[in-house]
Amino acid sequence: MTVKSPSSLYSDLDVRVELDAPLAPLTWFAIGGRADALVHPNTIEALQTLSKRCHRDGVPLRVLGSGANLLVDDDGVDGVVVLLDSPAFKAVEFNASGHLERMRAWGGASMEKLVMECSRRGLKGLEQMAGIPASIGGAIRMNAGGKFGAVGDAVDAVALVTPEGELSIFSRESLRFDYRHTNIPRGIVAWTSFKVTPDDAVECRARVREIFTYKKSTQPLSASSAGCMFRNPTLADGTRESAGRLIDLAGMKGARVGGAFVSTAHGNFLAVDPGARSDDLRALVDMVRDAVATRQGVELVTEVVFWRRGEDA
Ligand SMILES: Cc1cc2nc3c(=O)[nH]c(=O)nc-3n(C[C@H](O)[C@H](O)[C@H](O)COP(=O)(O)OP(=O)(O)OC[C@H]3O[C@@H](n4cnc5c(N)ncnc54)[C@H](O)[C@@H]3O)c2cc1C
Repeated sequence: MTVKSPSSLYSDLDVRVELDAPLAPLTWFAIGGRADALVHPNTIEALQTLSKRCHRDGVPLRVLGSGANLLVDDDGVDGVVVLLDSPAFKAVEFNASGHLERMRAWGGASMEKLVMECSRRGLKGLEQMAGIPASIGGAIRMNAGGKFGAVGDAVDAVALVTPEGELSIFSRESLRFDYRHTNIPRGIVAWTSFKVTPDDAVECRARVREIFTYKKSTQPLSASSAGCMFRNPTLADGTRESAGRLIDLAGMKGARVGGAFVSTAHGNFLAVDPGARSDDLRALVDMVRDAVATRQGVELVTEVVFWRRGEDA
């Protein structure tokens, strides 16, 4: 059931609101419909109150990061979509709380910029994130990473705005980061503090360059995609198999539905032509999943998050 987002949820808060806002330009696929209400909070207090009211009234609240792991349905989404793009949510504090080795980044800050700034300052700890497009909140929620490690490796603490509007701080000891997953409960990542180590700036920059070059040589980064569409499945013997290899073996590289296609360079990159429909991509996802299940006997699960009107946020 589609849920409306009455203006009483936010009209008295320190926020900027766009009604019937197009989401396509805010995602890497650059397709899909509109948000009934796109809300840009200016303060943490406004975000907390908005979250509490949406929870109280049963209005779905979704948070959009840099849109690099997201497919928005052609019919858009209901309720409230929050975008943490005001200066308060893009801030980064080095030497957080007087600690040289602690850095605090707010949920809407850019992971790419943070990786570059750390390497410029000679701070080691986040170079594994080179070339991964993400906001801080989106990276934490997905535990984004790859061959060289994941964001969770560097996390010191995470502050979460709970659905009830509280600000809960999770220390490193209480957090678990697994393959594209964390135990952080439902809510909005307000900020994360990272452990970084002072190191030689030239070496830091060289390491970031090396990881980025590796990524560029193995993945079609310029296509309109969300990176890997499917999670790498765990096989019966406990090993993790590459979903891209399974898709390749199933003969699906280059397969197409309307404006959506499987990259010929990397089987797990499903990309779209400009103007494609989300429905095309969803149909292609089903087609690839069926082919791999039939030919390899493995059920693929999507890594990309799908947003659809009336579905749980
Ligand atoms: C070219 C390309 C290459 C990629 N390569 C990789 C890679 O190597 N490794 C990898 O892991 N991923 C990769 N990805 C996927 C993507 O970069 C990651 O999943 C990233 O973490 C998404 O972050 P985001 O801010 O864009 O999140 P979004 O796509 O905006 O959102 C993803 C999910 O996170 C949630 N979310 C966003 N912000 C917050 C917040 N503040 N609090 C709570 N939840 C939030 C959203 O609600 C949604 O459920 C790639 C994507 C692209 C386009």
